Amino acid sequence: MKSLRTMAVHAGERAPRPDFRPVSTPIYASVAFAYEAMEDLDAVFANARPGYVYTRYGNPTVHAFEQAVAALEGTEEAVAYTTGMAAVHGALLGAGVRQGARLVAAADLYGASYTLLDKILRSLGVEATFVRIDHLDEVAEAVQRAKPVALFCETISNPLLRLADFAALAEIAHAEGALLIVDSTFASPYLVRPIAWGADMVVHSATKYLGGHGDVMGGVVACSAAYAATLRDQQKITGANLGPFEAWLLLRGLKTLPLRVREQCANALAIAEHLAAHPKVAHVNYPGLASHPQHTLAERLFEGRGYGGVLSFELAKGDQATVFRFMEALRLIQPATTLGDIYSLVLYPAHSSHRSVPPEVRAQIGIGEGLVRLSAGIEETADLVADLDQALAAI
Ligand code: PLP
Repeated sequence: MKSLRTMAVHAGERAPRPDFRPVSTPIYASVAFAYEAMEDLDAVFANARPGYVYTRYGNPTVHAFEQAVAALEGTEEAVAYTTGMAAVHGALLGAGVRQGARLVAAADLYGASYTLLDKILRSLGVEATFVRIDHLDEVAEAVQRAKPVALFCETISNPLLRLADFAALAEIAHAEGALLIVDSTFASPYLVRPIAWGADMVVHSATKYLGGHGDVMGGVVACSAAYAATLRDQQKITGANLGPFEAWLLLRGLKTLPLRVREQCANALAIAEHLAAHPKVAHVNYPGLASHPQHTLAERLFEGRGYGGVLSFELAKGDQATVFRFMEALRLIQPATTLGDIYSLVLYPAHSSHRSVPPEVRAQIGIGEGLVRLSAGIEETADLVADLDQALAAI
């Protein structure tokens, strides 16, 4: 009999291998994995057989989430990261971003993605050119001139809701040997699978629609097995990999993705139509409105499933103080810096999501002082509309 002190450390940990299978994927909260034979451990280290050795190299719960995302996006594999930004960084690094490399990217990216390219990568010797992604001639000219390693854009841009015409962009990128990397956070695989339209890597901030409940951060890149191998090799060293608890929550969130996004799209469309007719609203950006310049492209890409759960709008009295009073007057919809949750949320891009973007660049892109971004949740439509109406009445 071992001493109490030794038992306290080891007791219960070496249960025989079970002959049952849990219906729901368990959380493998283990840093390391042991094998009976050292040869097996060695073979896993060498990638000669599947398995897990150390959670920074791979973890069964994380892998289950990666497999689920790959299935939903229609890719061979997916690689999960700590956050959406880590996934954007990982995808760009995997695409060959290094000193002297060039990138072409959409001008109206999520603020942190813009700053990653414009500040951090630029300081490391990577030249980024920003283009209007809905002006294909401008994109083609920039790609032909820069010969970039990748063309990077968002399926539905944050916060102006401009769309990426994947098929045309893939053709432009591939003609110059560049990869097309798409951040599809706003669309989620429910609306569209960019890989089927020619994209090479699809990035998600899993923090948003994939998780969907505002309680977990994560990121993921869906791609071919070959790109995934590169991303994993780099991730083993850079270390921004998802933890098993987060992977479990994300896996749980994914199960209701289609149900949630369907309701969010219906709410967003109803709100967009309502606000477009409201006298205190100057303009609404939403691909589901016939007034959106790329409405036909939205119909082609999303095939009737919806137009996304996010819209943005300019208040007619578009100064910061009025926007702040409007956001404070909301009783149900919460002013918070995220999107894609079951809760409806509003955000002021100029001071949060796009704060890191210089004011003159914001103005040039079209992110004005009166712009509000709204992420529709799954609440009753009439309650959301009533909340917006009472807040608009208060300004
Ligand atoms: N991409 C888009 C389109 C986003 O909106 C965000 C965050 O808002 C990110 C990436 C970054 O995701 P995370 O906050 O999980 O790092």
